[in-house]
Amino acid sequence: MNSLKLTSINGEKNKRTVITVDNVKVGKDFVVIGGPCSVESEEQTLETARKVKEAGGDMLRGGAFKPRTSPYDFQGLGLQGLKILERAKKETGLPVVTEVTDPRDVSWVCEYADVLQIGTRNMQNYSLLKEVGKVNRPVLLKRGMYSTLKEWLNCAEYILAEGNPNVILCERGIRTHETYTRNTLDLSIVPSVKEVSHLPVIVDPSHGTGRLSLIESMSLASLAAGADGIMVEVHYRPEEALCDKDQAMPPEMFARLVKKLRILQSSMIGMNEQ
Ligand code: PEP
Ligand code: MN
Repeated sequence: MNSLKLTSINGEKNKRTVITVDNVKVGKDFVVIGGPCSVESEEQTLETARKVKEAGGDMLRGGAFKPRTSPYDFQGLGLQGLKILERAKKETGLPVVTEVTDPRDVSWVCEYADVLQIGTRNMQNYSLLKEVGKVNRPVLLKRGMYSTLKEWLNCAEYILAEGNPNVILCERGIRTHETYTRNTLDLSIVPSVKEVSHLPVIVDPSHGTGRLSLIESMSLASLAAGADGIMVEVHYRPEEALCDKDQAMPPEMFARLVKKLRILQSSMIGMNEQ
């Protein structure tokens, strides 16, 4: 890890990065981000956002620009989607995490996003990384599906080197020979990041497993592994989701999950005091 100057833990940089997003402190609190894979309509996003808020979620996620594997799949609502997210924030107070896929969109998407997400497919899009490094918004940098820890941290390094110190790493599963799950969630990366970097790291068990039945256990395991938070896809009507239907969590299940996480969190505080 010796080529990493800004993201690695060394000497005085041993201090952990805490990123403030409105009243949420990523790197200090255990942060729960919930919301739809993509913004599909005002009703869908607002209804889902209300449920995320009611359940005790800390931030709202939702994609307006969707990097889809097939060009014929729903690509997102673009600006209209960002305006819907803005309305959802106005009503619920939840800060918005949304993906940006094109360097030309970064500066204006900042008007709608509290956190800019870089997806797994764009982790090594260096012109995009440089662009988000120049703006005044925290960046949620997903791990590339084929990336090593060092490659991932080097991408974070691109953002920090441009002057933006606020990067949240997000493990979202990697490609392995396993096909039962959509990806293989690599939870060992969480304590590994903590060993070598001061940046906060969260986990996305939705893309990490692709299976609704596995999201709760992997969320609890993420907290136990020392993650700074999770990001979960929630949909007010999962069966109608236009994107990632099989992993869309219904609001009641999300509310139960948040409750369990808060219980585990408080017992872990007790444990750490032993
Ligand atoms: C997403 O979070 O909406 C997404 C597309 O995730 P990933 O980039 O991890 O596939
Ligand atoms: Mn998705």
